[in-house]
Amino acid sequence: MDALALYIHVPFCQHKCIYCDFFSTTRTALLPRYLEALQQEIAHYRRHPFFAGKTLTSIYWGGGTPSLIPPEQIHALLGEIRSGWEITPSAEITLEANPGALDCAHLAGYRQAGINRLSLGIQSFHDRELALLTRIHSAAGAMEALTAARAVGFTNLSLDLIFGLPGQYLSDYKASLSQALAFGPEHLSLYGLTIEAGTPLAQAVAGGRLHPCDEELEREMFLAGKRMAEAAGYQHYEISNYARPGCEARHNQHYWAGAPYLGLGPAAHSFAGGERFWNGRDLEGYIDAWEQDEPAVAGRERIGREEEKSEALLLGLRRRRGIDLELWRERFGEELLERGGRAIARLGGLLHDHPPFSAAPGAELLTLNGQELALTESGVLLYDMVCQELCAGLCA
Ligand code: SF4
Repeated sequence: MDALALYIHVPFCQHKCIYCDFFSTTRTALLPRYLEALQQEIAHYRRHPFFAGKTLTSIYWGGGTPSLIPPEQIHALLGEIRSGWEITPSAEITLEANPGALDCAHLAGYRQAGINRLSLGIQSFHDRELALLTRIHSAAGAMEALTAARAVGFTNLSLDLIFGLPGQYLSDYKASLSQALAFGPEHLSLYGLTIEAGTPLAQAVAGGRLHPCDEELEREMFLAGKRMAEAAGYQHYEISNYARPGCEARHNQHYWAGAPYLGLGPAAHSFAGGERFWNGRDLEGYIDAWEQDEPAVAGRERIGREEEKSEALLLGLRRRRGIDLELWRERFGEELLERGGRAIARLGGLLHDHPPFSAAPGAELLTLNGQELALTESGVLLYDMVCQELCAGLCA
């Protein structure tokens, strides 16, 4: 099967959160024109020489706030997609939803439209933290949205929580996570807050109005979250992601495996045939282009061998299963352990047959299990440094 993952970027939000760097706008009046442009884009790629005839194994509506699109329109667009591509019966079809922009009728409509997985941006179960993040929902609203999602039949729910907020206590984060675990979602994404340049949050930090979380405390939060999620039966399968057995996000796994994907909507990226291309971060430019039946592609680049290796390294080490050395040999014609031997030695060498993502007896950062090279728990905490060191050894 010639598998393809489809991503659709929905660039609208009711309100722009203080920390957000995703491409989204509050100009929801542009939604009808955006939907028409999206229809044109779907029709274009259904006929595209590379993408036509592929089989979709996952569809992901991300944003922004995809739940601002009414269910009937999601249904119609999924119909357009179905008429152009085969979709596997087991395909994962995810919609990101904002708990502050959802009700039971909408949720039931999304189910009927064919959405089978909901990813809810809960972020915290504390009103004080939600206010700090300028989210539009309350903790009670988050719980109502989760309960409603289950009531209308969603059996695959993912929750996002953020830790490392300015002024956040470890106990607050643990309380939020306990509440999430008590609800029992199939999947959890636990992210450390990133202070993105240019956001109001970055300005508040630069102006001394907010103080970033202490690094050591953030590290404790990461470890506490990991321990709690694992004790509740979730597997830590990717640096920021936890799942009940069999509930790992298939769409993301497709990206992490370096397989082709098509991104639709403004700011969406695609990867196919060794080339990456992307639409601009410009909603009106996207709409104008498609109103003239022109693809809204803003740039493209061929991925060189060294870049491909560095991506394979970065993506592989994010995963618990790590990098398959045999596949590395087939793909790049070299022995990773030989070529990267010096870098591995500088990183403290390798453990053997030690479970990945788990605490090492010493300060080891890497472990080799059969043919798979992966991070230990300390390696996960030092992911950026490990990747930098290995890239310098392997991709130069
Ligand atoms: S709802 Fe999500 S995408 Fe929209 S502004 Fe907030 S963080 Fe960004």
